[in-house]
Amino acid sequence: MTDSSAGDSPVRKAGADFRWDGVEVMRYKEEGSAPFRDVTRQVLFDDPTLGCEWRYFEVAAGGWSTLERHEHTHAVMIARGRGSCLVGDRIHPVGPQDLVRISALTWHQFRAGDEPLGFLCLVNRQRDRPQLPSADDLAAMRRDPRIAEFIRA
Ligand code: MN
Repeated sequence: MTDSSAGDSPVRKAGADFRWDGVEVMRYKEEGSAPFRDVTRQVLFDDPTLGCEWRYFEVAAGGWSTLERHEHTHAVMIARGRGSCLVGDRIHPVGPQDLVRISALTWHQFRAGDEPLGFLCLVNRQRDRPQLPSADDLAAMRRDPRIAEFIRA
């Protein structure tokens, strides 16, 4: 008989509401490092031999992730809830099991609707730091009134 809650077990059992045994619920980013509202981060897999990290983010109802871009890419699958994401110059409604590809140097932001928006996100372990939009970048994005209404920065 083995105990699946032991620290060296290959299995981390799911708890309620997208929590897992032995996986810490962390803040999304350091407070004040970038604008965001009500987002948590859990690192599900970060074994160095994988070359990638698999994370779970959750944006609380009404919350939003940082508007950013970077050289590395994201492979995202929505796990729970509904919301919207800006990818480049388009805003997309998203819901459970939808897949979102965020390519290099593409502005992106996730916003939850009136329920939590949870998503899995795969990234390279070695990656560049996110870039935040400059005033000029924001002005360019805001030329599109739909994007102006959507973005939080
Ligand atoms: Mn990003």
